[in-house]
Amino acid sequence: NAASSGKVDYVFKVVLIGDSAVGKSQLLARFTRDEFSLDSKATIGVEFQTRTLVIDDKNIKAQIWDTAGQERYRAVTSAYYRGAVGAMLVYDMTKRESFDHIPRWLEELRAHADKNIVIILIGNKTDLEDQRSVPMEDAKEFAEKEELFFLETSALKSTNVENSFNTLLTEIFNTVN
Ligand code: GDP
Ligand code: MG
Repeated sequence: NAASSGKVDYVFKVVLIGDSAVGKSQLLARFTRDEFSLDSKATIGVEFQTRTLVIDDKNIKAQIWDTAGQERYRAVTSAYYRGAVGAMLVYDMTKRESFDHIPRWLEELRAHADKNIVIILIGNKTDLEDQRSVPMEDAKEFAEKEELFFLETSALKSTNVENSFNTLLTEIFNTVN
């Protein structure tokens, strides 16, 4: 079958955005290498990581771009968004401020990216439930209003990371088919 042929049927560019320290690089490390580091220094200079997965008997190569410490307002360049078919908009559920900045990130994304881009909102660090400062209902409500997918994750515990990327990539796959 097609999936076992080894040939890549689709390459999907996905961008990670959101404030610094919300866990973007660790979500990426977890998804592409099943790794996690608690003292992750600012993002290593690599532009993107890839992982190939099978959806509907097709080989999908996800090319996931990570910001290289450009999270300051408007510092992410349009080249970063160019060609992206998916975006993960990440906040830290223990840091209210990172959630309050989400509308700003969404606005940037919508200004630079393709209008059909598929977006998932991610509340990361659910392993720190006792420090939660963003109620799940607030995020869910925002996501519904803005027509985004939404999940809470823990890169540390590996909770919902696979599910988040799969949800995004499957929806992208469905929109191109
Ligand atoms: P980025 O700046 O958005 O790329 O954030 P990083 O991935 O570098 O993570 C920032 C800090 O948060 C690091 O110390 C990570 O180890 C930590 N971190 C990332 N994800 C999680 C998580 O799910 N749970 C916990 N407890 N810490 C996390
Ligand atoms: Mg990073």
